[in-house]
Amino acid sequence: MKKCIYCKTSIEEESVVDVCERCGIGVWGDKMFKAIKESMEKARDSGDLNQGSVSESWQANRNHLSKKAF
Ligand SMILES: [Zn+2]
Repeated sequence: MKKCIYCKTSIEEESVVDVCERCGIGVWGDKMFKAIKESMEKARDSGDLNQGSVSESWQANRNHLSKKAF
């Protein structure tokens, strides 16, 4: 089972992001979190990226957004 990187709550194994809904929205806001999830899902569904690449781009996304937000 995957866990949220912030609150350690269990999240769905197939979730494209490593945070739960509540933390994601808390950190990025409702719209931004949805946009992130959508782009991650698109990348996954396209089959262009393997699991590792998706994780990497997620990390990059997160770092990028964190810098922007703070
Ligand atoms: Zn959480």
